Amino acid sequence: MKQVDGEKLLASLGPGANELKGRLTPDAPMDRVTWFQAGGLAELMFQPHDVDDLVAFLKLLPEEVPLTVVGVGSNLLVRDGGIPGVVVRLSAKGFGQVELAGENLIRAGAICPDKHISAMAMDNNIGGFHFYYGIPGSIGGAVRMNAGANGGDTSERLVEVEAVDRKGNIVRLSKAEMGYSYRHSSAASDLIFTHATFEGYPEDKAKIRADMDAVRHHRETVQPVKEKTGGSTFKNPEGHSAWELIDEAGCRGLMIGGAQMSSLHCNFMINVGHATGYDLEYLGETVRQRVFENAGVKLEWEIKRLGIFMPGREVKPFMGVTTG
Ligand SMILES: Cc1cc2nc3c(=O)[nH]c(=O)nc-3n(C[C@H](O)[C@H](O)[C@H](O)COP(=O)(O)OP(=O)(O)OC[C@H]3O[C@@H](n4cnc5c(N)ncnc54)[C@H](O)[C@@H]3O)c2cc1C
Repeated sequence: MKQVDGEKLLASLGPGANELKGRLTPDAPMDRVTWFQAGGLAELMFQPHDVDDLVAFLKLLPEEVPLTVVGVGSNLLVRDGGIPGVVVRLSAKGFGQVELAGENLIRAGAICPDKHISAMAMDNNIGGFHFYYGIPGSIGGAVRMNAGANGGDTSERLVEVEAVDRKGNIVRLSKAEMGYSYRHSSAASDLIFTHATFEGYPEDKAKIRADMDAVRHHRETVQPVKEKTGGSTFKNPEGHSAWELIDEAGCRGLMIGGAQMSSLHCNFMINVGHATGYDLEYLGETVRQRVFENAGVKLEWEIKRLGIFMPGREVKPFMGVTTG
């Protein structure tokens, strides 16, 4: 049963929609966007051609229509009832470039893959970006999630972010204005990041290449990188490793429907067949419940969950167990 109606929403935008250069897709399947390859429909997907096109679209969009932005979907769990309103997905043509912006400065479009920054940095003897080599997301996702690995994170390298707000105003944010903490930015949730500028430091190309090779080798050994996954499911709670808590609660390899906690890295959830959004979220909340009962720790989702449940297929936090 379809929970969203993209054709109706598209028609409500009026003739102004015909002036847009980007692509508008009603009822866009989100399982084609997410790394989990699961989830329902985006009511209306918009892929802007460039910043001007995005601004024009936002000025056209009625205030009450919900708006969600996604990157390449490597950290997303989309519920089976779909995502009401508009999902903005930046086009590679308009937002995928990476360029040198001064001495040790790199500017990238928000849909540029993280690893392209690592490669550009290495080619130009700029250190500090090898950690991006192993993160499969885009720069917009990295800037929103403060993505990090191997001892580095986005907040350390970021100089400035360019964004468009819900009303279609172009804004710039300094690193301080991004309000960074572990895997989190407190920047206004309605901002669509379009570009970001980063600063590294001079470093020898051979050293950078060796660091990048080490990152790749480490990942391939300890993470199920070739599976349909969303990366780390839960944040590491203060003083704990999420995977250890999950392991101690007996959830390594735990399976519900087509979803499983990876046996290789038990903080990674994987779609082993035809998992639905429901299977994945049910599994995640079951793990939270078991970890809470075993260790008294409340795991917090790192994966972003978007959209609405199918009626009768709701999943309660901690499976409805009272956690105080
Ligand atoms: C195998 C694997 C390994 C991973 N390893 C790591 C790791 O080591 N470290 C780590 O930090 N993450 C890791 N991740 C998670 C993920 O790659 C990162 O969180 C990444 O930064 C998400 O980027 P994305 O483009 O996929 O964003 P999405 O998953 O599409 O979205 C994530 C969030 O970012 C927001 N967002 C995306 N683009 C924009 C934009 N342009 N403007 C505003 N908001 C935006 C979305 O609204 C959403 O809230 C891993 C994932 C996988 C699958």
